[in-house]
Amino acid sequence: MKKFYFTPGPSQLYYTTEAHIKHALKHDICSISHRSDTFKSIYKKASDNLRELFGLADDQYILFTASATEVWERIIQNLVGKEAFHLVNGAFSLRFQKVAESLGKRTFNAEVPEGSIIDVGSILIPETTELIALAHNETSTGAMVNAEDIYKLKEAFPSQLLALDVTSSAPVAEIDYTKVDTAYFSVQKCFGIPAGLGVWIINQKCIDKCWQLINKGFSVGSYHSIPEMMAKAKRHQTSETPNVLALYLLSKVSEDMLNKGLLQIRREAKYKAAVLYQAMESCDYLSPFVKNEKNRSLTTLVAKSSVPSSAIIEALQKKGIVIGPGYGKFREGHIRIANFPTHSKEHVEMIADLLTAMKF
Ligand SMILES: *Cc1c(COP(=O)(O)O)cnc(C)c1O
Repeated sequence: MKKFYFTPGPSQLYYTTEAHIKHALKHDICSISHRSDTFKSIYKKASDNLRELFGLADDQYILFTASATEVWERIIQNLVGKEAFHLVNGAFSLRFQKVAESLGKRTFNAEVPEGSIIDVGSILIPETTELIALAHNETSTGAMVNAEDIYKLKEAFPSQLLALDVTSSAPVAEIDYTKVDTAYFSVQKCFGIPAGLGVWIINQKCIDKCWQLINKGFSVGSYHSIPEMMAKAKRHQTSETPNVLALYLLSKVSEDMLNKGLLQIRREAKYKAAVLYQAMESCDYLSPFVKNEKNRSLTTLVAKSSVPSSAIIEALQKKGIVIGPGYGKFREGHIRIANFPTHSKEHVEMIADLLTAMKF
């Protein structure tokens, strides 16, 4: 039986990805030189399409890495001399702080229980902080920050760089990216492309900050330092031999998404999320883990379960639907259902019906 993956990432491929992979193989995309004009045009297309999809300003740039995890390290190396501040509300936001600590930086955090969102109005950040990091969508708990809170945070701390993790929410999230200094994601979540490519958006302030650090004698890394990446990006190239197939697929899927329209993608995401949350509310063994409705994720939905998640997962597997267990310590106590652009209304309605009909 064909399976449909509603796991939070890797997940079901975008519905056009398979055809694009076939086309890529037929046209030797995996064999071309990464210094060739064909490659440069693929790179440019991916970059231009993302720029349009994310509504970037002229002083914002797109760089490519291996993953979102890599971007955590690059942000700290390139943008933080001594001190970073992390908003922590789950495993992913905490991991970013750990990366900063591993790289020898002083870190502070504002931490709230999993499933909740930090009240940005109450945060006190030391003046010495150079960068504030937060996860827009904490994939481990399904808690999502509202865009207004992100803008408020930037307004309250205009001299710090703001780094936004949109790994499991872009491009569904309605965010004005011109209001953040740096944002990043990897392609195996909402974009439905095989894993192994990260996208890093930076603005001119990030570039300036990086040069300040270099001039003070800090090491900002080697082949993936901002100056090195920017120099190559200007020529539509990368320092290393990159994941050419993933870049090609990104150029195509981003084009498909532009053609479909972000408005439509977002409208569908809201409808499907509403169907799933309603099912979670109506099942006596489930309840949405995030209590505050306006912070419930649109893309990675998490429910607390009174029966072991493995029982629910197994029952859905029999119908060809693969959902995720809880993250880390919540493995048996939660289920996680991805609601990415590739996930169809029909499948989502089917999952809702199956969950509602299940008896334990
Ligand atoms: C998945 C995820 C990451 C890590 O992505 P990788 O591609 O594994 O590096 C980081 N942050 C969030 C919020 C995620 O969901």
